[in-house]
Amino acid sequence: MLARLCLVVCTVWLLAVPAHAERFLVRDQSEYFQAAKNVEAGDTIVLANGEWRDFEMVITGEGRKKKPITVTSQEAGKVILTGQSSLRIGGSHILVSGLVFKDGYSPRGEVISFRRTKQDLAHHSRVTQVVIDSFSKPDRYESDYWVGLYGKNNRFDHNHMVGKTNKGVTLAVRLDSEESQQNGHRIDHNYFGPRPVLGSNGGETLRIGTSKYSMHLSNTLVENNVFDRTDGEVEIISSKSGGNIFRGNLFLRSRGNLTLRHGDDNLVERNVFLGFGKDYTGGIRVINRNQTVRENYMEGLRGSAFSSALAVMNGVPNSPVNRYVEVEGARIENNTVIDSARVGFGVGADEERSAAPSKSVFRNNLLGGLEAETFIEVFDDMSGITFANNRVISGEVDNALASIKQGALELERAESGLAFPVAAKFASLGAPRDLKPIAIEDVGVSWYAKPDDRSPFGASGTVTQVDAGEGLLAAAIIAAAPGDVLELATGNHIVDRTVSLDKAITIRGVQTADEDAPPAVILFERPSLIELKEKGNVQLANLVIDGSLAPDSVGNSMIRTTSYPIQSNILIELDGVTVRNLEVNKSFSVITLGKSTLAHRVSIRNSRFANITGSIVSASAETEDFGQYNVEYLDVIDSKFAKIGGPIVDVYRGGRDESTFGPYVKISGNKLADVGKAATNRSGAAINLHGVQTAEVVGNKVASSMPLRIVHTVGTPKTTLADNLFSQTPVPVLEELIFEGAFRVTASNNIIEEGEAQ
Ligand code: CA
Repeated sequence: MLARLCLVVCTVWLLAVPAHAERFLVRDQSEYFQAAKNVEAGDTIVLANGEWRDFEMVITGEGRKKKPITVTSQEAGKVILTGQSSLRIGGSHILVSGLVFKDGYSPRGEVISFRRTKQDLAHHSRVTQVVIDSFSKPDRYESDYWVGLYGKNNRFDHNHMVGKTNKGVTLAVRLDSEESQQNGHRIDHNYFGPRPVLGSNGGETLRIGTSKYSMHLSNTLVENNVFDRTDGEVEIISSKSGGNIFRGNLFLRSRGNLTLRHGDDNLVERNVFLGFGKDYTGGIRVINRNQTVRENYMEGLRGSAFSSALAVMNGVPNSPVNRYVEVEGARIENNTVIDSARVGFGVGADEERSAAPSKSVFRNNLLGGLEAETFIEVFDDMSGITFANNRVISGEVDNALASIKQGALELERAESGLAFPVAAKFASLGAPRDLKPIAIEDVGVSWYAKPDDRSPFGASGTVTQVDAGEGLLAAAIIAAAPGDVLELATGNHIVDRTVSLDKAITIRGVQTADEDAPPAVILFERPSLIELKEKGNVQLANLVIDGSLAPDSVGNSMIRTTSYPIQSNILIELDGVTVRNLEVNKSFSVITLGKSTLAHRVSIRNSRFANITGSIVSASAETEDFGQYNVEYLDVIDSKFAKIGGPIVDVYRGGRDESTFGPYVKISGNKLADVGKAATNRSGAAINLHGVQTAEVVGNKVASSMPLRIVHTVGTPKTTLADNLFSQTPVPVLEELIFEGAFRVTASNNIIEEGEAQ
């Protein structure tokens, strides 16, 4: 009775108080925390425009459906959280919007947590119109998540996330307590922008669950997001739970794929994957039970094996949760795959993964590979899949599936840009005609620019002439803006310091009509000419670099990286460069990449190297065998090397991790003479590739040198050796560390001449 009376009285009291939603404008952290203590349902805290440094923001409370507790910015995009900042949300019906995280990183394990503490998880809460830009921990191998979703019924939408460079998933949905399972979260209309190659496991953009909780339902909806150049690792999305829906997302130029890694009963529909022919772009990988993959569109994808446009995997009989559950009851229908490298069935089949798919259906799919190339691959018995009404319009089909109808079809592009069969009778084939990719303007925020894809070199448009002389070049580099070009006059440019580079700079010799004009020559008086730091990228062209003034110091290197970890992926390009006289000590290298750095690309073209005691490119600092490495793409093309003590290329990627595509090394059209013979060359090779995933060594002439050495570790490395001439040089040393069988190589027309120097 008393309780009932109270209920009546309380209700009357509530009705008696006029609903006045408070609006608190706060100018600093103490005002914020004061306001946050007192907020009630319907109240709004407004953060004043400006920089909020080292702000570990927390909000919790009980909002109501129509009266959330709101935290927002005075103006969208003008409240900047910098330094050691983060956001934690507890309670329910909380709405946060309009913030920008940049110029710093979270001191915690997450930038945005949908939980305040392990006990206070967020429910019915929303984060929208928030930017996280390059808010990465400085050490690329120190892990965090940018967003951790916990609790239930939360929404993360219209946010903009770019430039995560450290290890750890960009957005993780956690199922680690019952309160976070069957969560009904919505992740929609977000812009997942460029995430550079991490160079190890842990570069996923989105992960839902973990193997430990994969038998639970997550019931998360991932809808209408754009994944633009999300290249972190082999998995763009790793779904590790059940009951998720992936619908209407656009994957643009993104390496890797959407993987149904663990958990059953997921739906993947109406997604668009556009690879534009970029390396390693993939589609959908199917594992586990009762997965539905329908009405998706894939074009221009170049991934193979695990990263095929469609990869239906083999499973492990009675698989433990952390391995590969058999594909059973998969429905894969009405998908379009065109201009793509591979579709695979029974992918991953081996002694352990011996269970082929069962009780599955593959029908109404329109499939087009690359002309006259392997397209549909079969690795096991596919009688457990019912194939019906599919059509292959180009590419080669494995004999085991020769019954699939083959033959070209006329396609036309709809207004959406997607291609469909012209003839009405093929209307049931492939993705539906009303499918169109979500527009990039419709995701993320309108007030923060989405990054373009331009090279950083020359981006400023400014070209500065530098006269020959002492000290002028160093001063010009220091004064230059990112993307500037420095054009060196002919004559000697003396550099008396190691130049620290934290921007993209092009240094090139002036081009004159007179071919006999003397070149621009750089001489440096310190152990290094350039030290690359955060955001440092260097392009050198049409000049001579001479090391004869450098002092004798341990670890001399013309270009080196700082001893601190570098977040950004470095670019180093040499074109038409002569490097000579690096011999003041026993191991003077040209380019040395240090620990915790990853060069996205090192490119050497049309260049000459002579009288150098060390290596040309040393990318072998990650020796712990964690699957980390120092260079993603390494090109050495049409160049000459004479009297080089170390290897011209020394790349090391150890360990058994299979989460990366690289390194990718291409060495073609070069001449090597007297390379690798220094006593300090521990590799004993002229070219040393350990754990490289793709190696093309083509059209090189190698004379009087140490051998080519290639060691395969995990995965399915692709090595091509063709048209090479080895004279007075030992035969190549080729070794498989794990794979049992002959060395896997595509070799043709290599000549080993008599008179090997053993
Ligand atoms: Ca992974």
